[in-house]
Amino acid sequence: MHTHIVLFSLLILGLNFSSQAQAQNTHVNPWAPTELGVLPPVPSLTNGIWLKGELHLHSRHSKESSNNPISKILAFSKAVGIDYLCITDHDNHVDGDVEHNTWADPEFKSDSILLLYGAEWTTTRGHGNVFSARPYDHQRLYDVRDQRDVVVGAIVKELGIHLSANHPSGKDHFGYSYDMVKSIEVWNSAIWSKNANAMMIWDDMLSSGRKLTGRGGSDAHHGVPETPDKATKNSYQARANYVGTPTTWVFATTRTSQAVVDALTNGRACVTANPYTPRVEFYADWDQDGKMDMMMGDNAKATGKPVRFRVQLTGNANPDSTYTVNVIKNGNPFNTFTAKGKTPTVEFTDTPEAIGRTYYRVEVQGPIPPYPQVPGSMALSGNMVGLSNPIYFNFDPNF
Ligand SMILES: [Zn+2]
Ligand SMILES: [Zn+2]
Repeated sequence: MHTHIVLFSLLILGLNFSSQAQAQNTHVNPWAPTELGVLPPVPSLTNGIWLKGELHLHSRHSKESSNNPISKILAFSKAVGIDYLCITDHDNHVDGDVEHNTWADPEFKSDSILLLYGAEWTTTRGHGNVFSARPYDHQRLYDVRDQRDVVVGAIVKELGIHLSANHPSGKDHFGYSYDMVKSIEVWNSAIWSKNANAMMIWDDMLSSGRKLTGRGGSDAHHGVPETPDKATKNSYQARANYVGTPTTWVFATTRTSQAVVDALTNGRACVTANPYTPRVEFYADWDQDGKMDMMMGDNAKATGKPVRFRVQLTGNANPDSTYTVNVIKNGNPFNTFTAKGKTPTVEFTDTPEAIGRTYYRVEVQGPIPPYPQVPGSMALSGNMVGLSNPIYFNFDPNF
């Protein structure tokens, strides 16, 4: 009799276990591995246009922002030559309803600047930015913010949005799986020095096999007040950190919002201290025919033969100054070069391993050109001119 009761209890327990296991199995893993085939061909290096923009910015629709209506942001951006912009207001300040706040603002329109749709996904597990070429149902992302990564990841996939990890080492750092993001904010605000840990996290994510785009974002919350009586205790920030500190450049196939998001996803992007800083371009000649055939963000199979690399500072370089180019290979210092001239250029050769992953990226130091509209920013950025995204070998595009 006693034995029967024990057996019966075990049976009940067993049933309970199996029904629990079944409940958990209802989640489908959105990142299930797929077979690694031939790598997609590298897109054209010439068929495109460089666009500069700002990817993290708060308007008056974020509660703690001040003196920062969208019209002011747009007028400023136009004046300094910004091509694209994503206003990323805190979604929790409007209970997720970004659609009827930031995006519904009559000032949210521009003839000259590509306006991305997005928001700062502001959760107890940290912050991430959304970048989208078109309106999407942000409320759905907001509503699952406290759920498991598999739930959030499925929504991100379904909405077709680019999710990006914000200020990854600071307060409110992104506390979800990096499997669901396509980029990481390695340069937050004009204060370059506080990004050291973010850069380390980026190198670790790259080393683990993620093809993850590094991007910038000023995270500016405050505009210059119209009159002295409108000043707040934070007004001083607008003179040191505003649109374009730093600036993220993308090589887009066309001047469209979708092409901007695609370039960001693909990693054809670099980050510079401000909109007037020379752009950091990074190329490789994979087949050694004397012509560059890859650029940053591109991924190719390593052949075991040497590859020629080129770093080029394009635009507003100071011909009397010397720039220092640090090459990082697989997260470690590889070599340091100096360059001068109107278009400072550095070339070097290395052989990526035929088996296993290799990536190269560069950081450029030197004088930062004046940004008169945000005069306090240059001192905060120090001598950090800009950084490239990596050139990749043997990375699994389905990771
Ligand atoms: Zn944040
Ligand atoms: Zn923010």
